[in-house]
Amino acid sequence: MIELLFLLLPVAMAYGWFMGRNSIKQKDQTIKQDLSIKYSTGLNYLLSNQQDKAIDSLLDALKVEDDSVEAHFAMANLFRKRGELDRALKVHEHLVRLNHLPTKDKQQAVFELGKDFLSAGLYDRAETMFSKLLKSSDYGIKALTYLLQIYQSTKDWQQCISHKKQIIKLNDKRLLHTLANFYCELATMAFEQDEFITVIELLELALQLDPNSCRANWLMAKIYQNHQQCELAAKCYQDIYHQDKEFFPDVIEKMHGCYKNMDALDDFYKFIKKVYDETASTGALISYLTYVEEKHSKKKAIEFILSALKRRPTIRGFQHFVNMQINQAQEDINDDSLDLIKELIGEYLKVKHRYGCRSCGFNSQIHYWSCPSCHEWEQLKPIRGLEGE
Ligand SMILES: [Zn+2]
Repeated sequence: MIELLFLLLPVAMAYGWFMGRNSIKQKDQTIKQDLSIKYSTGLNYLLSNQQDKAIDSLLDALKVEDDSVEAHFAMANLFRKRGELDRALKVHEHLVRLNHLPTKDKQQAVFELGKDFLSAGLYDRAETMFSKLLKSSDYGIKALTYLLQIYQSTKDWQQCISHKKQIIKLNDKRLLHTLANFYCELATMAFEQDEFITVIELLELALQLDPNSCRANWLMAKIYQNHQQCELAAKCYQDIYHQDKEFFPDVIEKMHGCYKNMDALDDFYKFIKKVYDETASTGALISYLTYVEEKHSKKKAIEFILSALKRRPTIRGFQHFVNMQINQAQEDINDDSLDLIKELIGEYLKVKHRYGCRSCGFNSQIHYWSCPSCHEWEQLKPIRGLEGE
């Protein structure tokens, strides 16, 4: 009889295992049912436009299970896009408070919370959030980018410079470019006080960080020229051409003044001819015509511009051609119709934008170093084409 009981032992164990398994399955099912109820309640609230109740219900579901974290991020980001920042904040704050979330999700929640605060204009709280992520391999660069955006909005140039070491370590081109521009901002302030040495030191730092910062060379040329160091200024103008050919037309006039002071206009026109050959810029063409007229004749200059305009017509080029015709006519007979044409072109160009942002397409009559629309640095350049350069 006892042997028979021993024989039944494996059966009892199998029964126990089977019942235990069923019990776990039942527990899982109960949790899933619970979740399903919470989600459907949340969705019902969403559909009936009771969004605050919907959020509470969906957040409640998240307490139980974290498989749906991505869905919660999507929901919160949607709220932010719709301008419902209080709701976005509520979801992200909840995610930040969840202890069981993996580090990556937690960092994402902190990052998104920073973006919510930034959208709400709460810069100090956004700064606190982004500062927490500076050592994160996933969010370090992104957080630093937003921090610089905050410092740019608050014109807190020094705060940005306090992150210099980390920016250099990350070696991110965009961050280096932004930091260089912050040095240029400080240099501009020193320039206004005519602190020659400080300006040069700050601009040299800017160029070390971003050797392509034509803004640094532009300001450097300006201060050298103010202090009668024209050779150094001329070198800066040449550097600007090599750094940014599109921006160069804006410095042609200043560069001309610099070479004139050095009594080296032949070198200037040689350089400008090269610029014209390489870029076909209208600014360079107009500048070079003075040389053609002086060295050869007015007739030769008119022939030159006509042939240039046939190859690449621009309104500004045509305006200059009309000017030349007026000067020519005044020497022969007085022709009022040319004056009228000149006036019309002048009025037409007045309403046209001179600068366009290469980053977002924003257009403007005046130049800004930081685009008023997308806030990118050094992206506003003379517009090319028929109505531009
Ligand atoms: Zn822009």
